[in-house]
Amino acid sequence: MAGRHYGPFPHSTSKPILKEQSVYARLKEAGYVVDDLAFANAYPQRFFVHAWERKRWTVTTYMARKAGIDLHSSNDLRAGIAISAGINNHVWRNRLDPSMPSVSEEEAAQRFHEIGQQHVFSLFEYYLTDKIGHEQDFGKAEDVLHTLDVFFEGLLSHVDPSRDLLLISSDHGNLEDLSIKTHTRNPVPLIAYGSGADAFRESKSLLDVTPTLVELMAQR
Ligand SMILES: [Zn+2]
Repeated sequence: MAGRHYGPFPHSTSKPILKEQSVYARLKEAGYVVDDLAFANAYPQRFFVHAWERKRWTVTTYMARKAGIDLHSSNDLRAGIAISAGINNHVWRNRLDPSMPSVSEEEAAQRFHEIGQQHVFSLFEYYLTDKIGHEQDFGKAEDVLHTLDVFFEGLLSHVDPSRDLLLISSDHGNLEDLSIKTHTRNPVPLIAYGSGADAFRESKSLLDVTPTLVELMAQR
């Protein structure tokens, strides 16, 4: 939208849109309150230090903060109420803090489901598929696909399709073609499973997801 790739940080032209039209902002407009909404990702202390120093937040952390949603810290990850960027805590333990308890993909799935039960809407952002797509590393790609397989399998076993809705999508391709370093223009999947999933049958692009979701949730 801003004409080039700005990494995870929003361009100045996207900021008002993120503030006023993010899924969080629209759900609040539809009558939900901050406590109904969750952003499941945990961020390490150094992320917060850099963000405050540079006054620069990533797209998802920016939109969560603007909606008044607290970001989760390492303490929340340790307490079992948030999920690390890697889903399992492998990288966190290796690179940041060896004392952080291990979390399997199955446990992370259970944790995300619990967060989902405690809120009306819960978001988890996974971006290692993008990072590794840029790195063009086949071994790492296999690892993250395995992590996602187990995580999704766990989620599907917990989701009650008569009352829960699981939505999975992406903003662009990358990992599916390791022969190029950049994002791809391939179509991305939209997976809608459970209560209200039919509403997404006509969705043609990522731009359809938030409006359809908000409309669906406003009816409840
Ligand atoms: Zn990227």
